[in-house]
Amino acid sequence: MKKVIFLLLDGARKDSLETHIENGLMPNMKSLISQNGSFSTAVSVFPSTTGPAYIPFLMGTFPGNSNMPGIRWFDKVKFSKNRSSLNSHRSYVGIEGLLFNRDLKKSQATIFEIVNDSRSIFNEITRGLPSKFDMTQISKFYYKVKSHFLGSQLIDNVASEKLLDAIESSAQFVFCCYLGVDSNSHISGCNSQSVVDSFVNFDDKLGIVVKKLKDTKQFEDTLLIITSDHGHSNTSSHLDLTGFLERSGYKVFSYPLVHKKYLTDIDAAVMVSGNSMSHIYLREDGDWSKKHTSRNSDGLIDKLLTSEAIDIVMSLNTKNQIVIKSKRGIALLEDKETGVFYTPLVNDPFGYEGIKDFLSYDDVLEKTFETSYPDALTQIVQIFKSGRSGDIIISAETGFDLRSNFEFPQHKSSHGSLKSDHMHVPLIMNRMVSEDKIRTVDLFPTILDFLNLQVPNKVDGKKLDIN
Ligand SMILES: [Zn+2]
Repeated sequence: MKKVIFLLLDGARKDSLETHIENGLMPNMKSLISQNGSFSTAVSVFPSTTGPAYIPFLMGTFPGNSNMPGIRWFDKVKFSKNRSSLNSHRSYVGIEGLLFNRDLKKSQATIFEIVNDSRSIFNEITRGLPSKFDMTQISKFYYKVKSHFLGSQLIDNVASEKLLDAIESSAQFVFCCYLGVDSNSHISGCNSQSVVDSFVNFDDKLGIVVKKLKDTKQFEDTLLIITSDHGHSNTSSHLDLTGFLERSGYKVFSYPLVHKKYLTDIDAAVMVSGNSMSHIYLREDGDWSKKHTSRNSDGLIDKLLTSEAIDIVMSLNTKNQIVIKSKRGIALLEDKETGVFYTPLVNDPFGYEGIKDFLSYDDVLEKTFETSYPDALTQIVQIFKSGRSGDIIISAETGFDLRSNFEFPQHKSSHGSLKSDHMHVPLIMNRMVSEDKIRTVDLFPTILDFLNLQVPNKVDGKKLDIN
């Protein structure tokens, strides 16, 4: 029976993994790659953060196309009708995490609605999965909170024990998340010893998994995938984006002070993810249901760009074009169904060279893959498709993030931005792959094809050629 075992090494930097393999710290990974396997680089999605960046794997779409533009969001239209509505704002950090499945676009199937016999370990996107197959349904909150505050390898050891049970079961698809690298990166920095220990611990567990698959004669019929949802970069300074707007004269709504919506006549909302990206929502003419376009927020955008913490600022103009500004330049970006139309106006906000006019999504990937902003034009277009996205979207500069209060423990490393540090992820398979420029969203149709199953709806990824 064909099986797919998907190991999500959450927050693993591609170059860290490469270095640990080269230095002999991950012998099981090395032998998996050398025995007819492959090590590729893939591009994740914007925002490059846990939750939204799992959607490509489990639904085959970009976050914007599943209406999940961040781990925190605000819905201006819903808020304008009823500020007490459960659907007017969200933070998946905490109790509202229980609403994640409910908030995903209903017309896009999850893999668990397609592959009936599946298992999930330490993962929140479980729509369609019978609760008995969500192997950490009860315990995940406890272990995730513990991992978030204290780090350690405990959560990954628990994941591995559950995974061995899943391998013995009849499941055709197993999705197992290893959260140690991400938690330890946030707590101690992405190059810290505790993160190295998480990689080494993962490699030990991988050795046991491969041995088990071989001992039970399942290895040849199994597609084993190891990848990540985002990278990381060390953070030395935190910009209090909420405070920045307050100092600019706005009355701001942000988590966790949600009661402010009743006490103050708020006219802005800040929703940070990861913590290197943020949505900003602005009330227009006293009306939350109105769009705020870049012409009337120009003053704020230029002010935001004076901060060394802010790299790229994106907003819509009155012609529904996306205006992209950075300290390097200004450009316009438009969605053209099969690709994008890109018009640099003043230099280039990303520092791209010779990229302009119409580009198919394949062209964007090809031409930007090796740059500091891989696939950014595709990623910006997709995030603006969500009705829950901000009027202004910010991607932070390396070394900075956008949340300084209410973050315990303080983040020493962050992710979420458009930078290659966060967008490039490692992709290891026990198969060779023909393509050398891959998006994480390509894995969903590849998995279904391997299991001889049809993709039931339009997806953003393309099946990879593996053998
Ligand atoms: Zn994280």
